[in-house]
Amino acid sequence: VLTRPEDRLCYAFDATGILHMPDVVVCPSEVDQVARVVLLASGENLAVTPRGAGTGYSGGAVPRRGGVVLCMERMNRILGLSRADGTAVVEAGVVNGALQAAAARRDLFYPPDPASMEFSTLGGNIAEGAGGPRALKYGVTRDHVLGLEFIDAGGAVVRTGALAGGAEGPVDLGGLLGGSEGTLGVITRASLRLLPRPRATGTLLLTFDTRTSAADAVVALTSARVVPSVVELVDESCLAAVRSAGVADLPFEHVHLLLVEVDGEVEEVEEAAGRVRAAGREAGCLEARVASGEEERDEIWSMRRSISPALAKISPTKVNEDVCVPRSQLARLVERIEALSLQYGILIPTFGHAGDGNLHVNFMVDRLNPQEMARVERAVDALFDATLEVGGTLSGEHGIGITKAPYLAREVGRVGMEVFGRVKRAMDPADRFNPDKFVP
Ligand SMILES: Cc1cc2nc3c(=O)[nH]c(=O)nc-3n(C[C@H](O)[C@H](O)[C@H](O)COP(=O)(O)OP(=O)(O)OC[C@H]3O[C@@H](n4cnc5c(N)ncnc54)[C@H](O)[C@@H]3O)c2cc1C
Repeated sequence: VLTRPEDRLCYAFDATGILHMPDVVVCPSEVDQVARVVLLASGENLAVTPRGAGTGYSGGAVPRRGGVVLCMERMNRILGLSRADGTAVVEAGVVNGALQAAAARRDLFYPPDPASMEFSTLGGNIAEGAGGPRALKYGVTRDHVLGLEFIDAGGAVVRTGALAGGAEGPVDLGGLLGGSEGTLGVITRASLRLLPRPRATGTLLLTFDTRTSAADAVVALTSARVVPSVVELVDESCLAAVRSAGVADLPFEHVHLLLVEVDGEVEEVEEAAGRVRAAGREAGCLEARVASGEEERDEIWSMRRSISPALAKISPTKVNEDVCVPRSQLARLVERIEALSLQYGILIPTFGHAGDGNLHVNFMVDRLNPQEMARVERAVDALFDATLEVGGTLSGEHGIGITKAPYLAREVGRVGMEVFGRVKRAMDPADRFNPDKFVP
């Protein structure tokens, strides 16, 4: 239990940098402790904000109304891992990468791989509906959740799906918790689906002279009778940021990249990589290069995973939006982003899980410059309108939290907001869990 201001400050913000001090931070290590904290908070009429590793990009773990931050970092045990069943049972505070490594030791594979996988928790991944590069082929976190255990607003331990003995029940309660951003309950355990580990992976880098041609090529690649496991777009300004951070030794300059992976059996991978190269060339790529081995592959992924931290170094503030559109509309969206950059005079490095139509659009500014922040606000507004116009969504994976709450009604409409409100009131009548976020 942390009460000193300097300790509470460490749990007052997430990756957005938005800051609200909690009154107290509690780090339980057992399920019944979580339940008792919820009951105590209820008795004192305090808000409870569940927290994993605080890597969220929408302010979800920020305790907007103070109260208790319930940090799950000590609930970090992998309770079971079965090859026969293809499942893992984990506590909510297990770091994603720890499960990936444990699964790999048994020749198994947990596909959801947010770029934050070395530090974000599985509970946070489930609560945010996290995606990742491999979502194109394997789906996002919610596609791998077989059952959940959570603490409800009355302090009761609720089990769903595989953790309730396999019974789904008439309503998929676990499904409701997925993507609920800590507003409906505190996830304590999960049963997750594992797959056999692919025998081989082929990694390719395709370079393009314009962002639009790279975005156009995504459709060409995904139509080439092959389902890549990964298609990531990295634009020129992201590459420049990574180069200046000195993270990876990149042989490219002044180009836009598609990072593509195919996986499966060895022969399958060779054939698929050949098809990707051919489709890339047909779509106008300048160069199609296949990584020569594990070392080069690691170098490429360290480049990809360091984009966010590298961008954070090139200007004081990074306003990070993660919109998602049908991939046939990616090129149109990329053109709009380039136009916004010119119109508002803001550098907007763009990268993301392009195979899923999910782009991370970063507005590089200075929070202390009011004129610049006013321009960003207008540019973000225009980005969201452009996204919705082409049938997209305001968040591919980072959630709504605080930052996107003012825009949500634009996407789901009045009726959608009312339904969110009714679900929230049914499950958390006193508005105990993570209040003042996206739920009206
Ligand atoms: C460098 C970087 C790269 C990233 N890349 C990706 C990416 O590729 N894909 C992606 O989807 N996201 C990405 N993110 C965003 C972030 O890592 C994810 O949203 C992640 O799922 C958050 O996990 P966390 O443990 O840090 O959760 P937190 O930030 O602590 O919390 C996130 C939300 O979940 C709730 N929550 C946390 N734990 C629980 C629990 N046990 N029960 C109930 N609610 C809970 C919180 O209340 C909050 O609303 C990235 C972030 C960074 C900093």
